Amino acid sequence: MNTDTETMNTAETTMHQMLRRYFGYQQFRPLQQEVIGDVMAGNDTFVLMPTGGGKSLCYQIPSLLLPGLTVVVSPLIALMKDQVDGLTAAGVPATFINSTLDAAEAGRRKQQVLSGQIKLLYVAPERLVLPDFLALLNRANVSLVAIDEAHCISEWGHDFRVEYRRLTILREKFPTVPIIALTATANERVQQDILQQLQLRNAKLHRAGFNRPNLSYAVKQKTTSLVSLFQIVEQHRGESGIIYCGSRARTEKLTEQLHDRGYRALPYHAGLDRETRTSNQEAFDRDDVEIICATIAFGMGIDKSNVRYIIHYDLPKNIMGYYQETGRAGRDGLPSECVLFYGQGDRAKQMQFISEKPDPNDRAVAIQQLNEMVAYAEASQCRRALLLHHFSDDYTATNCGNCDNCLSPNAIETVDATRQAQMLMSCVIRLQERFGVAHVVDVLRGSGAAKILNYRHNLLPTYGIGEATSKSEWMWLARAMVTAGYLNQDAESFNALRMTQLGREVLRNRQTIMLQRRREESSGRQERERSPRATSGLPEHNIELFQRLRQLRKRIADQEQVPAYIVFGDNTLIAMATRLPRTLEEMRMVSGVGEMKTKRYGTVFLEAIAEFFHEQPNIEKVERSIPDFVPPELSAMVLATLHAYRPGMDPQDIATARQIAKSTVMAHLESLVAHGKFDTVAPFVSPEKIEPIRAAFRRNGLAALRPVMDDLPADFATWDELRLVRADEYRKQQTNRQAITEAY
Ligand code: ADP
Ligand code: ZN
Repeated sequence: MNTDTETMNTAETTMHQMLRRYFGYQQFRPLQQEVIGDVMAGNDTFVLMPTGGGKSLCYQIPSLLLPGLTVVVSPLIALMKDQVDGLTAAGVPATFINSTLDAAEAGRRKQQVLSGQIKLLYVAPERLVLPDFLALLNRANVSLVAIDEAHCISEWGHDFRVEYRRLTILREKFPTVPIIALTATANERVQQDILQQLQLRNAKLHRAGFNRPNLSYAVKQKTTSLVSLFQIVEQHRGESGIIYCGSRARTEKLTEQLHDRGYRALPYHAGLDRETRTSNQEAFDRDDVEIICATIAFGMGIDKSNVRYIIHYDLPKNIMGYYQETGRAGRDGLPSECVLFYGQGDRAKQMQFISEKPDPNDRAVAIQQLNEMVAYAEASQCRRALLLHHFSDDYTATNCGNCDNCLSPNAIETVDATRQAQMLMSCVIRLQERFGVAHVVDVLRGSGAAKILNYRHNLLPTYGIGEATSKSEWMWLARAMVTAGYLNQDAESFNALRMTQLGREVLRNRQTIMLQRRREESSGRQERERSPRATSGLPEHNIELFQRLRQLRKRIADQEQVPAYIVFGDNTLIAMATRLPRTLEEMRMVSGVGEMKTKRYGTVFLEAIAEFFHEQPNIEKVERSIPDFVPPELSAMVLATLHAYRPGMDPQDIATARQIAKSTVMAHLESLVAHGKFDTVAPFVSPEKIEPIRAAFRRNGLAALRPVMDDLPADFATWDELRLVRADEYRKQQTNRQAITEAY
């Protein structure tokens, strides 16, 4: 009777043992355990997890538990060495075979594979399908095939690779071997395509929410002086960052400007030869340079875990791509920043490119995507919510607490633009909806430009009526009207401004037009708006020690010729610098320090810590864990909701009393609960549901709601209920943590 649960338990223990022994982690991340269980049961599996979610362990741990070989298909040859070096450093028998090896070395590795010395073999798709290679695999005992970056198989994805298509023969050649497909980006259609192409059988989809709570998002005004860009870079001096630019020339120029300011930076774009690109990427990987100024050619599969900021200096083409690029920050789970610079000319410039596309369909798609991107840049609501909606994620919080709009909602003001909006629309109509923004504004301001006179637009009744308003003000108004849906821009005819249905109605009925605008960034606000940093909140001595440990790591990495993060991740070094281990056993307890690494590096790092301790006897232990959930901030608005609350009210009652939306009330309640303004969530969540939901959060972590929802019986709870219980659980954990720190 008991055998089933007993085998289950053993399987789970061994999974955990592997996690600790090889990777030095104490706990699985959400979904990892389920995926590994599924793979170990011999099922085909489909894993959709955001970058940094921990996909690799989903096949690496099974590879250690399964009797035979695990083959990993990975698209980038350049990355295989690092992946394998990382595994080797952790004591996992892994290797790769690709075109960078000479015949003798490849032969030697094949021998190792055949003799069963290797558990994990990395190959590129084009090699895997060669008859020779398939024959080799036939003789090896293959237990599992993992397809990384599986979206590359789909033409509907944004990274289609022909070589991936040929993987369809895997099922045919290895009918009994389970396949695990993994990706961080796949919409519905791409998911279907992956399942179909790989002929996965009843594959369970393990889908983690796409939210990356440790990333902050902000949009800043683009200025020619680049002051705010350099400010961000300076705040991260010594840390790794990527600056994406729209053109090769810009990457080169910016690299130079950064050099002038004393940073180590390198460019990366398709115009550089392959060797330069590889060596620049390597320099970045190994922390020899801090910054890469790149076009989007610097892309997929950057494995570096400690990228602390991603700046987009030019407007990206679409939100999917933007989210993917920002996803390269903070894979280690530490706070990291994503900043987009946005300026007046960005939209027009992109429109220019789009108008050069020959296919009208392509143009229409590109315009739609650009409009979404512009809406993001000009948004006054939560940026995270906007981004996540593109993945039809179930993220419904209205205040994420970690984007510029949520951190300083006061930066947004609503202005009455009725009069000017009417002038603008009248002018658009007078011009028969045939002219672009610049021309419309010229007419309004009474310009004497030749184009105006040629068209006799100086005779129009709207000519010069807006003289008193500055050009940039009119430009802002036009963009805001497009964003708000009163006007649109027709790319099919030179971006002419057109009236929308809404615009006509509002104009006809002389309705008030309120537009939202961002108050210009003023110096006073900047401090408060800063997002948390990896080391923020830590005492100075601990930060100093962390820096010291980083230097040590760099020396070791250089000696061993591997990227620094392969020795230890930033989060592991921070854990060392805060927990201050004194013995190898204590070192072994630090997250990220496995058996192999304890042996190899334990002593040197202990020595470095002891030495520092000697210099700074006052350094203290800090109990600090990385927040996986940041509750909405406690603002005046939120407190007003608390005031309006009377016992017995439900959220709808509060919404009515406050005359605000119920969704806003929910966000306020979440904040109030998280900050301990309510001792219990019982008034808002049925009492019998609270404990089961709480237990599900303890199993899955607080970071994402989706795994918790999936973990509970169907229709058991609503998203709002999950959110409130999460806030309550967060408060409890905070209180416990405080008690622990005080007890130290
Ligand atoms: P992905 O492939 O999903 O982008 P990775 O597999 O590279 O993510 O993992 C991202 C980072 O998280 C790595 O540094 C990895 O070592 C770390 N990681 C993975 N699983 C865990 C875990 N259970 N506990 C702590 N860190 C983990
Ligand atoms: Zn937000």
